[in-house]
Amino acid sequence: MALHVVDHPLLRDILTRLRDRATPCDDFRILSNRISLLLVAEATRDIPTVAGTVETPLATADASRVAVRVVAVPVLRAGLGMLGAFLDLVPSAHVGYFGLERDETTAVARRYYEKVPKNLQDAVVFLLDPMLATGGSAAMAVEGLQGMGARRVRLVSIVAAPEGVRHLQACAQDVEIYTAALDRGLDERKYIVPGLGDFGDRLYGT
Ligand code: URA
Repeated sequence: MALHVVDHPLLRDILTRLRDRATPCDDFRILSNRISLLLVAEATRDIPTVAGTVETPLATADASRVAVRVVAVPVLRAGLGMLGAFLDLVPSAHVGYFGLERDETTAVARRYYEKVPKNLQDAVVFLLDPMLATGGSAAMAVEGLQGMGARRVRLVSIVAAPEGVRHLQACAQDVEIYTAALDRGLDERKYIVPGLGDFGDRLYGT
């Protein structure tokens, strides 16, 4: 399983501002969208395309068009902060949802909602989950998608913890992870350190 820690000066700048505890909710939302654009561009770098031609106002030009079914699956609720950016870049994507929440005392994930497009066999599926912490919810989502036939699954996270990466490596085969940062680890409450706090709370002001 490949781990891609995406590096770009703009991405580092945005991540710094996301981490900043003083960043208010409205800026946090804008920055989440912006960093997701950069991550999604990288995570889709090698998706299949088909060559052709296109007529410009002046002449015929070589063309390249996306030639695979793309499915985005945000993990509710924090993953919704990445969906707008995904659809800006891949407007034809189909969208599924996984509702997973973690028990605040045990940090164990529980699935409470699932609505995912059918026929995932030939699709490239992008799971959007900004914080890869213990990896419990990501592994549950990946296993769910693979159980529905998905063969190509990519997880796009903004921040990852080594514990989450290891957990996913141990229990989910053939998943590629794209993230902006591999942080130090988890604290006793299973938050990523240094991380950026509770992503959903900061995104929605709860
Ligand atoms: N979820 C979050 O929002 N933040 C963390 O640090 C870990 C899980």
